Amino acid sequence: MNTPCTAKAGKQPPKEIIAYELHGNCYLNITWHCTLRCAFCPKYHGEWVVQGYDLRLLREPEADEVIAAIGDPDMYKQIVFCGLGEPTLRLDTLLEVARQLKAEHPSTSIRINTDGLANLVYAEDVTPRLAGLIDELSISMNAQNEAVYIQHCRPKRDGAFEAMLDFAVQAMKHVPSVTLTAIDGLEGVDIDACETLCQERGLNFRRRVLDIVG
Ligand code: SF4
Repeated sequence: MNTPCTAKAGKQPPKEIIAYELHGNCYLNITWHCTLRCAFCPKYHGEWVVQGYDLRLLREPEADEVIAAIGDPDMYKQIVFCGLGEPTLRLDTLLEVARQLKAEHPSTSIRINTDGLANLVYAEDVTPRLAGLIDELSISMNAQNEAVYIQHCRPKRDGAFEAMLDFAVQAMKHVPSVTLTAIDGLEGVDIDACETLCQERGLNFRRRVLDIVG
């Protein structure tokens, strides 16, 4: 048997965390890739430990590995695709996990914490694919306008702020609960203006606190 290249003499190789428990939920860590480069993101400060869990991955897990890492989904209030990366960048794997969970445990509630840029990334409206599989979306809005969004989120693609808002509107047709969030306390972020912008588009809004996974 080959020794993992990450192993060092006298040390155990790092154990990758694909699934972790928080707030009575099971959070899933399926990629480290992102469409954004958020200035407040711990990984851009060399920190991969979130809420006591080291979320550094050495490779991206397959659907069967994710299912195995969850164990019994009935133990949790909700299964949450989260990060430290953007889960919809692995949309096929994510939906395969959701499909298996719903088939074997129909009462399982599934949420995606997302940047809301999947339609921009795939250059098509992928929100119909979420129907019947995803119960809730929490979309990181993070700013009340494009300038502040770019300042904090540093998107790799043009048009990300509008694309995120449009994704949320499209997703409401297929996902029972869609909520946009912004972090209170970041420079220039106007939480009231974020909420107003959401109300104008018929979207739900929730204020978040920095470094608290929700
Ligand atoms: S979307 Fe999340 S994981 Fe990606 S850079 Fe921003 S804070 Fe970090």
